[in-house]
Amino acid sequence: MADKLILLDKTRQELGEYLKEQGQPAFRAKQLYSWLSKGVPFSEMTNLPKDFRQKLMDECVDLPMEIHQVFPSQKDDTVKFLFRCLDDHLIEGVLMHYHYGYSLCISTQIGCKMGCAFCASTLNGCVRNLSSGEMLAEVLLANRFLGDKGHVGHIVLMGSGEPLDNYDHTLRFLRAVNDPEGLNISLRNISVSTCGLAPMIRKLAEENLGITLSLSLHAPNDRIRKQIMPVANAYSLEETMDAVRFYVKKTGRRVVFEYALINQLNSRREHAIELSQLLRDLQCHVNLIPLNHVDERSLQPASPKAVQEFLHTLEEKHISATVRREMGSDIGGACGQLRRRHLQSQS
Ligand code: SAH
Repeated sequence: MADKLILLDKTRQELGEYLKEQGQPAFRAKQLYSWLSKGVPFSEMTNLPKDFRQKLMDECVDLPMEIHQVFPSQKDDTVKFLFRCLDDHLIEGVLMHYHYGYSLCISTQIGCKMGCAFCASTLNGCVRNLSSGEMLAEVLLANRFLGDKGHVGHIVLMGSGEPLDNYDHTLRFLRAVNDPEGLNISLRNISVSTCGLAPMIRKLAEENLGITLSLSLHAPNDRIRKQIMPVANAYSLEETMDAVRFYVKKTGRRVVFEYALINQLNSRREHAIELSQLLRDLQCHVNLIPLNHVDERSLQPASPKAVQEFLHTLEEKHISATVRREMGSDIGGACGQLRRRHLQSQS
């Protein structure tokens, strides 16, 4: 199975070239691309000749992933998925229902090598990158799950993995998901979250895609950031913020800063004041996240009172900020928790 060709990894143009090599007429590529983008299996691609469908089934893969398990929240409409890859690895995705429609949080790698001290995804390191076709499959499977209820209209690359550490596949995915003959999801409805790989942020800015950049900041200075995010040893806050400013200048898009509030460490008034100075004059929004407690990690969330006070200090300093609504907190909301739980249950 694994050595079969994953057609979803191909761009529309590449699919056309592949079918040409197979001696198929050009219009077949359009038909096949349209089916693949809907997540339809080869066996149900009714306008393709039967022998061609059989050949595809023998040599290719239509959907390189399946839904392994579904965890619906009892508290809200959030659904967490464990997806199974062809090589049996499991990854997570989270489907959220907002007033503007369905938003899917997808994984970009199996595990993560960034080593953030609060994150469950990185505990077992990074197994491998996901391909663009696998990322697409996450969206297609969520759509299949929704059926008549709707479809994914917004995507956040905020599940397990560091998207900018898997740059080429991530870019292929973004272009594919935006293809008018495919899923046709507007790039304006897509956010890419990074722990701050400064050179890659600059590279992304040059692509001028119009996506929203989210930076996982979590600290107002290098000293604190280095305690919780190893990436801070590679790129100073100054370098990272320069790259972010470049992104804003190049794209005209407002940047979102993710800031998980950890008890004592980064959540006191002095930290909020320092943060407001760091972000002064920058077109941005701060997403405050009460830290999701991860069993293997000693870090504790800030109290709800500390979260509110932090928010008020930022507002007082005219920094746009909100506290992220906790969705699906009963189903392993924090990044990588579900997969980790599954790995542990097997050991
Ligand atoms: N690697 C990317 C995207 C994946 S992590 C990044 O670092 O941005 C998605 C977001 O969840 C990041 O902002 C990350 O810092 C945050 N996160 C991870 N574990 C968390 C936890 N236990 N509590 C709150 N936020 C967490």
